[in-house]
Amino acid sequence: TAAIRPLVAGNWKMNGTAESLVELRLIGRGFMGGLELAADAVVCVPATLITRACAAIEGNPVRIGGQDCHAFESGAHTGDISAEMLKDAGATHVIVGHSERRIDHGESDAEVNAKAEAAWRAGLCAIVCIGETRDQRERGETNAVLSRQIEGSIAAAASPANTIVAYEPVWAIGTGLTPSPADVANAHAHIRSELERRIGSEAARMRILYGGSVKPSNAAELLSIANVNGALIGGASLKAKDFLSIADAYR
Ligand code: PEP
Repeated sequence: TAAIRPLVAGNWKMNGTAESLVELRLIGRGFMGGLELAADAVVCVPATLITRACAAIEGNPVRIGGQDCHAFESGAHTGDISAEMLKDAGATHVIVGHSERRIDHGESDAEVNAKAEAAWRAGLCAIVCIGETRDQRERGETNAVLSRQIEGSIAAAASPANTIVAYEPVWAIGTGLTPSPADVANAHAHIRSELERRIGSEAARMRILYGGSVKPSNAAELLSIANVNGALIGGASLKAKDFLSIADAYR
């Protein structure tokens, strides 16, 4: 099987002002001591910080991403930000379809798909989030939900270069709960085979990240599971020490 270079991705959510750039500088420096040979890193910061974040990590291998984008390039959409604007500000990646946006803003699979296509149009890599709720898991619907979300939110033009899938069980986000290693392995294998049906053999090289309460103490176990090609990290990405300690699982 093809070796996939792991990616450690941070999601700062609605956190971060100028003073948080200190942490970003530390993350940047931390990725220069050999860690950059083992894994890639991207930190998805609030849009207000993208330009300053890019300046803070200049000269080191960390990349900067946004957390959402509008499907259109420009126009009468007050308060929204287009993929082209994120790109212009210095971002290389953008998260789309995070469960907090699917829930708080009622984003459908079709909208998430349109946002991923907007990211490609702007030359950004889309980090597309999928994952079941607690109710769906308890009803035994996890695989069906993942199949439906992949079908609906990942277009057939997705490739390993323009798309990263993040499996984030909604009930594991910010709760300290994580699925068992066997459940993670099953979900990631299911995602890989659904991606294969959707985009063919290239799916073997697509990164599938695990997200949901990843922290230094569980990173080594979660990141060693088959078909887990990195992590999407919320809370623990705000502190350089924790983010780097998670990434150290790849050293
Ligand atoms: C996330 O927001 O994508 C996430 C995984 O959050 P946390 O790591 O805090 O659970």
